[in-house]
Amino acid sequence: MDINSQNIEEIVRQVLEGMKSPAGAAAPAKASGPVPKTAKVAVLTALEKFEIKEYPMPEVGDDDILVKVEGCGVCGTDAHEFKRDPFSLIPVVLGHEGTGEIVKMGKNVKKDSAGKPLAVGDKIVTSVIFGPNPDIEMFDMNKQNVGGADVYGLLPDDDVHLNGWFADYILVRKGSSVFNVSDLDLDSRILIEPCAVLIHAVERAKTTGILRFNSRVVVQGCGPIGLICIAVLRTMGVENIVAVDGEEKRLAFAKEMGACATVNFKDYKGIEALTDGVKAAFGGYLADFAFQCTGSPVAHANIYKFIRNGGGLCELGFFVNGGDATINPHFDICSKEITTVGSWVYTLRDYATTFDFLKRAKGIGLPMSKLITHRYPLEEINDALVTNLKMEGLKIAIVNK
Ligand SMILES: [Zn+2]
Repeated sequence: MDINSQNIEEIVRQVLEGMKSPAGAAAPAKASGPVPKTAKVAVLTALEKFEIKEYPMPEVGDDDILVKVEGCGVCGTDAHEFKRDPFSLIPVVLGHEGTGEIVKMGKNVKKDSAGKPLAVGDKIVTSVIFGPNPDIEMFDMNKQNVGGADVYGLLPDDDVHLNGWFADYILVRKGSSVFNVSDLDLDSRILIEPCAVLIHAVERAKTTGILRFNSRVVVQGCGPIGLICIAVLRTMGVENIVAVDGEEKRLAFAKEMGACATVNFKDYKGIEALTDGVKAAFGGYLADFAFQCTGSPVAHANIYKFIRNGGGLCELGFFVNGGDATINPHFDICSKEITTVGSWVYTLRDYATTFDFLKRAKGIGLPMSKLITHRYPLEEINDALVTNLKMEGLKIAIVNK
């Protein structure tokens, strides 16, 4: 859980790995040691109760990939499952923001979903699983988001059991989208899934034609989603960013991530005063574009006031039904001619774009790793979920030794 020693370990490991293969020689792909006979899996067996179970290591079929899990982010979806089981999945192995190293693969596996070669020792992430549903098999990679498709970490239990990333091994089976991300560090790989959500949101925002290089942009909500939103905007060259939240700690982080000014809504009484606060932060102007990154209906209703006539809005905060918002269609949308887009998860294309975003974010010095505020070993997964539910940190991750 000590962030610094974690990073140093990672750097040392990478340096040692680099030394193993002499320069110029084609290093043969190697297994990272013998594969144990059993795998450890965190099974959610009841509400708010994970149990670590051991299952025999499955056979690796001709189209399968056996992956040693290195880490997996805890998502809001995991927290909902843990608390209420809304998808009726119990018993289930959760964890869909995972990454790890290939330790064994079937003879038919040659390339990842982007056409990159795959070998034992490569680091990978997975995205959707193409099932027997023809709609999902045929969906347009560029246009249709992957909402509703199967992913590891939200599958019903079966005889293999290695179905989610909260485990020390996972069996990736035929029909899964897999990406070789060996050129990204562990923290970046753990952040891929939530970052893809923002790559998609910004792509959606761009379709309005309003979000431009020099736009004034409001980002409302400075949880992981809002903070990553700021990071994506910064890598695109957008610098006029005002972050709105109710917590000073999060606003301070928003500044570190590149927001030029922040507004704490708790400092203002009423929406008119708050709007004046946002306007002042832009030097007397309303925003050209706004990203709504909270799950609060009141926040949704408020955000229209921050946008200039002819401006745009991307709403991406409602991962679950947070209830109805009351807006005034005449004042908020029609008379101002606001162009609104909604955004939901990502397309497979956005997923691949995210790898480049993460490299760029690191390149311009954005503190992406600081988004991961808590790291727990698999054995302490119950504590990890409780920490997530308490909303104490930003990104909580399970990190295996
Ligand atoms: Zn997620």
